[in-house]
Amino acid sequence: MNHPHPGLPYPAKLAKKTLRIVALGGLGEIGRNMTVFEYEGRLLIVDCGVLFPGDDQPGIDLILPDFSYLKDRMNDIEAIFLTHGHEDHIGAVPYLLRERSDIRIIGSQLTLAFVAPKLKERRMSAPMTQVKAGQIEKVGPFTLEFVTVNHSIPDSLAVAIKTPAGVILHTGDFKMDKMPLDGKVTDLETFARLGKEGVDLFLVDSTNADVPGLTVAEKDIYPALKEAIAKTPRRVVITSFASHVHRIQQVLNAAQEANRKVAYVGRSMIRNMKLAEDLGYLKVPTGLVVDYKDIDSFGDKIVLICTGSQGEPLAALSRIANGDHEIMVGKGDTVVLASSLIPGNEKSVYRVINELTRFGAHVVHKGNAMVHVSGHASAGELLHCYEVVKPKNVLPVHGEWRHMRANADLAMQSGLSEHNVVIAENGITIDVADGHADISGSIPCGYVYVDGQSVGEITESSLKDRRILGDEGFISVVVVIDSQSGKIVAGPDIHARGFTEDKTLFDDVKGDIEKALSKAVAGGFNGTHQLSQVVRKTIGSWVGEEHRRKPMIIPLVVEV
Ligand SMILES: [Zn+2]
Ligand SMILES: [Zn+2]
Repeated sequence: MNHPHPGLPYPAKLAKKTLRIVALGGLGEIGRNMTVFEYEGRLLIVDCGVLFPGDDQPGIDLILPDFSYLKDRMNDIEAIFLTHGHEDHIGAVPYLLRERSDIRIIGSQLTLAFVAPKLKERRMSAPMTQVKAGQIEKVGPFTLEFVTVNHSIPDSLAVAIKTPAGVILHTGDFKMDKMPLDGKVTDLETFARLGKEGVDLFLVDSTNADVPGLTVAEKDIYPALKEAIAKTPRRVVITSFASHVHRIQQVLNAAQEANRKVAYVGRSMIRNMKLAEDLGYLKVPTGLVVDYKDIDSFGDKIVLICTGSQGEPLAALSRIANGDHEIMVGKGDTVVLASSLIPGNEKSVYRVINELTRFGAHVVHKGNAMVHVSGHASAGELLHCYEVVKPKNVLPVHGEWRHMRANADLAMQSGLSEHNVVIAENGITIDVADGHADISGSIPCGYVYVDGQSVGEITESSLKDRRILGDEGFISVVVVIDSQSGKIVAGPDIHARGFTEDKTLFDDVKGDIEKALSKAVAGGFNGTHQLSQVVRKTIGSWVGEEHRRKPMIIPLVVEV
């Protein structure tokens, strides 16, 4: 998908007193969130995250937003504001900084703390401005006001972007937990005040828009966590996202109550929890957390906290499940997956659960106990939010099509008319002026794949090849022909991968290839390219008819 709305032209030059908005990622998908705001030639970016690949993108490490729209405009960027420290919002920052290394980064304390090591790892440094809720920050022609929102990572901010063309309110990722661990509820009073002042366009998190009711409070999972730990005769292993500080806080509290020590396993978990503790986001009772290398002295009275809740092959939990980690689990141990199940990861997660169960461990997950709640507002909360803000226009963000559609319906239920609710895909430009928000065109905007060291070099067609190789295998055919007579002097030599080992498998088709080639030569075909196509066609239809397979076929006709 290179041009999401081929019917839409490239947008006209931005008119005066008009604000233009274009998402380079995050619309129609959950991940790689990135939105560009333009006013009077200057750009403000909100978020710059990554998307994790699905099963249909074999071998891909990460997917980035498409920066090509910014390529010639790097110097127009005033700053990038990061709503919170999740990978789908901050993960692509180092890749953007490769294009221009001194873009100013604005974010809350914890968000910047999670970004900093990513830059340090790559020997990058960019100017950073730490902000907090209530603060007003002038960024070129944009005036930003930050608003506390509650989410599954502390220190998340919504942002109001004020320009003479209008006011935008962007929720970031949020929910309305009434009793969060840090007491920081989503600041609806400020939402209401901004609404009264006039919100021309409201960008709203759509993730849970199709979930009815209200999202359960984080604190409500404590009883299930406590029970899982209390009932375990031996060791407890708990996985969660390494950024979910409040989830880990609850694990610490439950472990303390059960008189168990806690150890963190895995580099990102150790690093993030140290950061969170140092900055005061995580309260660790003295003596509770011990070093992983000392755990043997505590026997079974231990809770291990590790990463890998999504079945990521290299993370601690998958390696434990493979028997490929120092930590071995067995009868009497409990493994708790205190995490969501991100669509697309089901297979790997259930594989991990099955393997752990096979070793004898008891596995507790969101399917059999309430050990996870979502970080995103459900329909009831969103509806409430629309009633509080009373925006003039709404743009659902952060969701697949079904989520954005559900969110748009909620906005209309709250009283907005259909033409005040814009559903857009990545690359579609929306212009805001005089209280209106209208689609003004579209810019080319595709997927940018990271594969090892390569960024943006893997194309859709290379992925298609990988899928064929993975699903159907491959066949190579080498034939040597005499350039004068066209007679076969050697071959056909056929090699295949992903087929039965039976060496006689291709005997039948060799005669067909010979016949097809001599017929082609007699018919005036010449040149190795044309003859290669004859070979491809012959073996292709044979393998299709006889074996119902569509492998990748690489014919090679050599003339001597
Ligand atoms: Zn988030
Ligand atoms: Zn997100």
